[in-house]
Amino acid sequence: MTLRSLLPCAAALLLALPAFAQTPIQITADLSEAPRRLYHAEVELPVSPGPITLITPEWIPGNHRPTGPVSNITGIVFTANGQTLPWRRDDTNLYEYHVTVPAGVTTLHAHLDCIVNSRVSAKLAVLEWEKLLLYPANIPVKDIPIQPSVTVPAGWGIGTALTPLSTGASTPKETGVDEGDHVTTAGATTTHYAATTVEQLEDSPVITGQYFHEFALAPEITPKHYIDVVADQPEDAELRPELLAEISNLVREASAMYDSHHYHVYHFLLTLSNVAGGEGLEHGQSSDNGVSEKAFSDQKHQLADSDLLAHEFTHSWNGKYRRPYNLYQPDFATMQQGSLLWVYEGMTQYLGNVLAARSGLKSQSEYRDILAMSAANLDNKPGRIWRPTEDTAIAASVLRAEGPAWSNWRRGQDYYQEGELLWLDADTTIRKLTHNKKSLNDFERIFLGKGGNTGPLIVTYNRDELIRDLNQVVPYDWATFLHDRIDKINPRADLAGIEQGGYKLVYTDKPNPSEAIVTANNRRHGAGNVWYSLGLRIAGDGTISDVRWGGPADNARLAPGQKILAIDGVIFSADALKKAIKQAKGNTTPIKLIVQSDSFVNLTSIDYHGGERYPSLERVKGAPDYLDDITAPLAKHPAMPKAKPEESE
Ligand SMILES: [Zn+2]
Repeated sequence: MTLRSLLPCAAALLLALPAFAQTPIQITADLSEAPRRLYHAEVELPVSPGPITLITPEWIPGNHRPTGPVSNITGIVFTANGQTLPWRRDDTNLYEYHVTVPAGVTTLHAHLDCIVNSRVSAKLAVLEWEKLLLYPANIPVKDIPIQPSVTVPAGWGIGTALTPLSTGASTPKETGVDEGDHVTTAGATTTHYAATTVEQLEDSPVITGQYFHEFALAPEITPKHYIDVVADQPEDAELRPELLAEISNLVREASAMYDSHHYHVYHFLLTLSNVAGGEGLEHGQSSDNGVSEKAFSDQKHQLADSDLLAHEFTHSWNGKYRRPYNLYQPDFATMQQGSLLWVYEGMTQYLGNVLAARSGLKSQSEYRDILAMSAANLDNKPGRIWRPTEDTAIAASVLRAEGPAWSNWRRGQDYYQEGELLWLDADTTIRKLTHNKKSLNDFERIFLGKGGNTGPLIVTYNRDELIRDLNQVVPYDWATFLHDRIDKINPRADLAGIEQGGYKLVYTDKPNPSEAIVTANNRRHGAGNVWYSLGLRIAGDGTISDVRWGGPADNARLAPGQKILAIDGVIFSADALKKAIKQAKGNTTPIKLIVQSDSFVNLTSIDYHGGERYPSLERVKGAPDYLDDITAPLAKHPAMPKAKPEESE
């Protein structure tokens, strides 16, 4: 176990700590113009006369990429004693600003704006602090104190894990914090929060919105847990009682499995919006969960995002508290290295899905259906013949933004789902070796509970520690176990966990019930799953987004970006595609296509006769049913509130 304060680079930097380490930076984030896609900040920086280098974050924890929005930071003005000071950007680090502080000045004021292109709508906003943070460069961010305030439109609620000090209606003259050249929009409200560090503030997002609700969860559990909800539509912010019960069960299940916590309070922050959704980002004392308006409106909609809250919650232990030694850096300027993301993300992928099933956010059979879909996807990914899983983790920061074309040959951030299969394999191996007396639960208590209950803290680890902790649960050659699955080329996915769990991956001619639900919810976008039959990913209009390397469509020389106009003599549709696959089954007549490539059209055919193929898990009779043991609740759940009958869609 390596505590972050013992990192050699951090220790060296500590020597350079100047006097301003004592006095907090004051930052006021003004979100009153959020509906206009603009955030503003007033920053009071304690300084000494002479040259100073200020910086904004580049490598954002949890993103594992240099996503700091420096290109959107605009309107920067530095002032001191009423005078505007010139600044110059660094020539090689574009996140740095150089300013010379005049004699006699102890406080430098900075104004800046951020143009916000996502996570904001007319009714709500998400503040990720890297959009507005500015602080001295070359100092560990855990050593820079900062006291935040947040201004939001009047009447908007706020959800955050920050500790509030006071709230008041803002006027230009109101507080000491807002003095200087700041003009507060009339009708806004400012909340002041307790001082923290730049590291912790970056880890403490704020959601705010006109339609806001905060719900307390699992009241018998300490510390306190809440879910804060903002939505574009008022009815969506009122979560269903049965959903709230499931999320309370999630808190109970995580407490039972991890037997520790590393926060003083925990806030699930949930954004329900078709324009501001699309996020899942972990933090130590909160998580930023952004989904579409109706994503949790009923059990069917919930299925696609059923593990989101459990995944991000698990990160408070695995990722935030326990952090790979090379992913953790003392500042946001140094590259975060991804080689252990198959633990950080992969084990979280496994635990998030398991916890979601134990909590009732999805059923045990839905868990198995979704696991089948994930395992089949990995087992039909030809890129695995040239690229080991570890390389998808090392290259994480360059893989995320890439599109779908030939992504099965490139491989993407496969360490998530490869990690899920790996940790299922580890769990069932422990159960097999101990006759189901021990499990990965025992490992989690050791690995994630080290040091007992703590507040938000980062404790780093390496692969050797994982191996030691696994051996503490049950002696085995865990070093070889991990090396074989992570570092080596494996043409097939690791299906051993499913098999040791009492199931096998099979392909049938009908989508499993969960795939059918997800496909029905996604009907506008997709033409159905023909990946395991024709080897195509295809939109509802016939546009091909990916072609499976070595599959039937690849053999027919089809390519991503082409559009199928007609199939077997009729205009393309999802039904026509399905019918063609059925008709070709068991005979020798190829499926005939008219295909558009840019401004050209050609005739081609796919020689495929295997019929429809969809993945599911089939129970192996007589084998131990570890998979269902794994997804059975550990904790006691109170009686569920009665669900209202579902309305037809
Ligand atoms: Zn994650």
